[in-house]
Amino acid sequence: MAPFTRLAFVAMLATAAFAVPVISPNPDGTPPAFSEADTYNTATSPSPALFKRAVESGVIMTCSKPGMVAITFDDGPYEYTNALLNILKAKKVKATFFLNGHNNGEIKNYKAVVKRAYDQGHQIASHTWSHTDLATLNTESEILSEMTKLDSAIKGIIGVRPTYMRPPYGSRNEFVKAVLIKAGYKIVLWDQDTNDWQHPTEVEKSLAVYKAVLGRKGEIKKNGHIFLQHDIHEKTALELAPKAIDYALKKGFKVVTVGECLGQSKSKWYRK
Ligand SMILES: [Zn+2]
Repeated sequence: MAPFTRLAFVAMLATAAFAVPVISPNPDGTPPAFSEADTYNTATSPSPALFKRAVESGVIMTCSKPGMVAITFDDGPYEYTNALLNILKAKKVKATFFLNGHNNGEIKNYKAVVKRAYDQGHQIASHTWSHTDLATLNTESEILSEMTKLDSAIKGIIGVRPTYMRPPYGSRNEFVKAVLIKAGYKIVLWDQDTNDWQHPTEVEKSLAVYKAVLGRKGEIKKNGHIFLQHDIHEKTALELAPKAIDYALKKGFKVVTVGECLGQSKSKWYRK
């Protein structure tokens, strides 16, 4: 196949042939909150109108089902992930893990944990091999290499490759988005950021994000939310997770995977 050139990507944008469903920002109409870089490369940018359309059509930011909460954990697997799985099992809820191959932990050292998470029904998703800012990469092959290296490692553990991915730092540009979508990935960000990495030991600050959103009157009838945190932080895994789950359940929400809160069957979460 010919290399995916800038020209091809511009042509693709023009046809707007995106496979990812259109999901608007927060259900209340407010823009999603990003604490991490929300960048794009001006050298490859199309017109503002095309850019806006690509953002709306190419990136999943929140749930499309009411009464659901998708709790997502980035940057693992790491030494707290297994204990987190114990908590999720005890609470009888499902979560989503956006994994790296080489970050704080090495995925080869956590094969049993990844397998356990998958077998327990949690969603395994990609956060790239080495947590690289994809917007700093200039070629299709560089971007895909970050994806396929992790895909292979994950397939070696659970037998399938994830289709859902979250770009590190939430960072992407039009070129990155076009490359990922063309390769069949669903790009997932978040609409609720606990910012746990900024205050990793202050669990109440992160929990307050859950309470502010899920405690709103009538919230249960609105489309759900995708919450971002990182299981490389001990207190996030061991204290925030159970408290957030308990709060969500107490308020009547179902705690589910990203795929479920988008109404997608499990067969769409992975490919061979
Ligand atoms: Zn990350």
